[in-house]
Amino acid sequence: MTTKPPITVIGAGLVGALLATLLAQRGFAVEVFERRPDPRVRGFLGGRSINLALAERGLNALREAGLANDVLAQAVMMRGRMVHALDGATNLQRYGLDDSEVIRSVSRGGLNILLLDAAERAGAHLHFDSTLTRADFASGAITLADHDGVARTHRAGLLLGCDGAGSALRATMARAAELGERVEPLGHGYKELEIPALLPSPRSRGQRPADAGREIFAIEPNALHIWPRGHYMCIALPNTEGNFTVTLFLPNEGPHPSFATLPDAAAARAFFEQQFPDALALMAAFDEDWNAHPLGQLATLYLDRWHVEGRALLLGDAAHAIVPFHGQGMNAGFEDAAELAGLLQEQPNDTAAVSAEFEARRKPNADAIAAMSLANYIEMRDGVADPHYLLKRELAAALTERIPDRFMSRYRMVSFTSIPYATCVERDRAQTAWMESLLAGRDNLDGLDLDAAAAHARHALPPLPEGA
Ligand SMILES: Cc1cc2nc3c(=O)[nH]c(=O)nc-3n(C[C@H](O)[C@H](O)[C@H](O)COP(=O)(O)OP(=O)(O)OC[C@H]3O[C@@H](n4cnc5c(N)ncnc54)[C@H](O)[C@@H]3O)c2cc1C
Repeated sequence: MTTKPPITVIGAGLVGALLATLLAQRGFAVEVFERRPDPRVRGFLGGRSINLALAERGLNALREAGLANDVLAQAVMMRGRMVHALDGATNLQRYGLDDSEVIRSVSRGGLNILLLDAAERAGAHLHFDSTLTRADFASGAITLADHDGVARTHRAGLLLGCDGAGSALRATMARAAELGERVEPLGHGYKELEIPALLPSPRSRGQRPADAGREIFAIEPNALHIWPRGHYMCIALPNTEGNFTVTLFLPNEGPHPSFATLPDAAAARAFFEQQFPDALALMAAFDEDWNAHPLGQLATLYLDRWHVEGRALLLGDAAHAIVPFHGQGMNAGFEDAAELAGLLQEQPNDTAAVSAEFEARRKPNADAIAAMSLANYIEMRDGVADPHYLLKRELAAALTERIPDRFMSRYRMVSFTSIPYATCVERDRAQTAWMESLLAGRDNLDGLDLDAAAAHARHALPPLPEGA
């Protein structure tokens, strides 16, 4: 007989809340323990980025939970990168072929609240102000502390660790099994700032002021803005309220400019006057934001092992935190949640087999998106303004037009399909090597026989997977 094991999710952030929803919808008894207070009562206490880019993979998992339309109603569509040069000139580089290939900016707080509501509706029991401090895998007992440090124990089911990059469950698991943990700091940090909306606008949940008028946005709303400056950059993502969350990415240490050389708001303002004058002109509360917002750190987390014999399993950032430059951390975590819910539904009696299968399927993909995210930092801060990069984009567009069943840019594969990340890396490697050979010694496409190149590619590149 098939019996469903009880599930204990640690962490009700983005991945934990979606996973709880998907499992409760499949008839599992789900309890969720979250360190923070309930954001629906006490307001959302951020911590990480204020908004995020949602792409096809994340949307796909939300579709499985029946939540995609509700999330899209709270999102601002972004067609491409709006690149801001130092002289103020702007240039939109489309991400996809048309408006069916776009990414979306969503508020972390709004999305988290939507997912918590969904998890409860599906029957999951949520416990806030409950920090996991210990887990005993032999007895199944976990210890939880409230904000005063008062501890209680609880009999847990299958423990699913969605408690983020600093996972306490992971630390506990590491005492029971060798996880092979390795954290590689990027050496660059980030600071969040704001370009406010031009007019006061409604802030209540469920309203769509973005539809009400583009005029409340100080810059183009339907784009992800980038100010690439070589070894550092600023980006800005729109919010439905008409404001933009601006993020400065910069080395932590070293010669100017680094966060070490910007000790206060006055130094930061002088730096922005030089490097981002058009953005600074729109940032009414620059000094206050600089002083109030913490410096965030970025790192990639690698683990050799994500589970302890059918008792505890990590997913999302707890298993594979990555740098944010492909906008895929949450999207990858949502894919994890959908994959795990499917596996548990198929084989609820064998959590050890499910854990091993989940790790075998997802880990190569997690490693692949980790590598692509690091590479994309260089592309965003440097490449998007580089003539050779732009020439490669032009060639990629010409090839896409001629052989859409064989050629797809890495960004499109990652953002607009569910082709496994590891396959995206392999295909991208082959495509890039081939494009570089076509472009050798050229600074334009004049005289390049694109039809012959496309004919060659029909043999050299395997067809894209069905439905890509
Ligand atoms: C600057 C920045 C920008 C980003 N932009 C994007 C983007 O555009 N697109 C994208 O897809 N991803 C983006 N990401 C990545 C994304 O934020 C993460 O991948 C995502 O939040 C992971 O979700 P999670 O639920 O695994 O972890 P988290 O969101 O970190 O949630 C973990 C939860 O666990 C709780 N918790 C922690 N410890 C305990 C404990 N001991 N007991 C109980 N609960 C606990 C926390 O309070 C939290 O609610 C970005 C990240 C950063 C830093």
